[in-house]
Amino acid sequence: MIIMALPTVAIVGQPNVGKSTLFNRIINERLAIVEDRPGVTRDRNYAKASWLGHEFNIIDTGGITWEGGRIEDEIRAQADIAMEEADVIVMITSVALHLTDLDERIARILYRSSKPVLLAVNKADNPEQRADIYDFYSLGLGDPIPISSTHGTGIGDLLDAIVENFPPEADTKDEDEIAFSVIGRPNVGKSSIINAMLGQKRVIVANEEGTTRDAVDTPFVAEDGTKFRMIDTAGIRRRGKVYEKTEKYSVLRAQAAIQRSDVVCLVLDASTGIREQDKHVAGFAHDAGRGMLIVVNKWDLPKKDSNSAKDFTRVIREEFQYLDYAPIVFVSAKTGKNLEQLPDLIKEVAENQSQRIQSSVLNDMLIDEVRNRAARKGRNPQTGVEIEIPASKVPAFKPGKALKDAVK
Ligand code: GDP
Ligand code: GDP
Repeated sequence: MIIMALPTVAIVGQPNVGKSTLFNRIINERLAIVEDRPGVTRDRNYAKASWLGHEFNIIDTGGITWEGGRIEDEIRAQADIAMEEADVIVMITSVALHLTDLDERIARILYRSSKPVLLAVNKADNPEQRADIYDFYSLGLGDPIPISSTHGTGIGDLLDAIVENFPPEADTKDEDEIAFSVIGRPNVGKSSIINAMLGQKRVIVANEEGTTRDAVDTPFVAEDGTKFRMIDTAGIRRRGKVYEKTEKYSVLRAQAAIQRSDVVCLVLDASTGIREQDKHVAGFAHDAGRGMLIVVNKWDLPKKDSNSAKDFTRVIREEFQYLDYAPIVFVSAKTGKNLEQLPDLIKEVAENQSQRIQSSVLNDMLIDEVRNRAARKGRNPQTGVEIEIPASKVPAFKPGKALKDAVK
């Protein structure tokens, strides 16, 4: 598949240093566009941004907290999330707070990271404050970059440094491999489905050494030789950390997984019916333009809204009108019913998706060609007489964006 995952940047730092102010400043332009789209709910913690033509995802780890969490646990969770999810980590401190104990603790955790860590000193609103950043050298994270998130100064320098530290090719993967993720709200049966699927005789799960991020994914080969990669979502296969149970974190993990997937399997629970949170998660997948498969699980239990597959299908089509392209399959992770169909269905969705991408490339080429032809017909600006421009004067064929992305 040809979908490329974008690099991810995570912002960490103690409370009140200005993480969310910086996050909002970096994503500002895009938000206005994204927010208007129907069926898509924006999450404050995770967004796409770009700088000088480089697109990336950005995470504000600050919002991921839980009731009763101690500050120590909170900063630990932030740093862990950043180290797991990000390609570049930005630690924020504040010149107004001076260097604090918590800054030192966060820096100590981040030393262990194999990812590049940049140090920004926020609230450097004026020249005196910008000159007052030398204490922060002692964090041992390199040159502190003075910024003011409210005034916007220094943000360009910070973004330059971020972009310079992107890995050469973020997350390249096997071209023949179909990367898929299984997403859905808690308790719909995601891990049961994955475990049942991986436990089937029809798949061979490979043990693979990889980078930290790849290590949580599971590559496997189906009976017909198709190669798959199951992208881990919300710590499905390793549970335990407190923050993994928080709603914000699970949404964030789902978004990160969607970004790296060719196909997203949205799991619904037949016994509870469709809830708001299902739509929320579905919106992200749809917005990311990935192939989608709707998996209705717990088909063995009494159903909530509709007892037949036909009725349930109708309800799904009504509730998720924008997912009209997604096939629906009814399964039970408990009894194993229909689970054997999943690999083939995922493959089918991936193939359709790549056709959808190819046709958008084709459209792009057609548009270019039409433009080229249009450019050859022109009017003499003085006389207004229609003239044919010789082919040699027509601007060279320039591939459009979709084509460029596809051949990258
Ligand atoms: P977070 O807890 O780290 O996400 O911090 P916030 O982004 O919520 O900011 C905490 C406070 O600092 C808010 O009142 C912001 O308006 C303020 N703040 C953020 N950035 C700056 C800055 O560059 N200069 C000044 N003077 N205040 C800032
Ligand atoms: P996750 O949070 O989405 O990963 O959900 P789990 O896989 O942990 O499943 C949540 C609960 O639903 C567990 O108690 C499972 O045993 C149960 N469960 C999962 N799939 C099925 C199913 O197909 N039928 C029934 N009856 N229970 C299921």
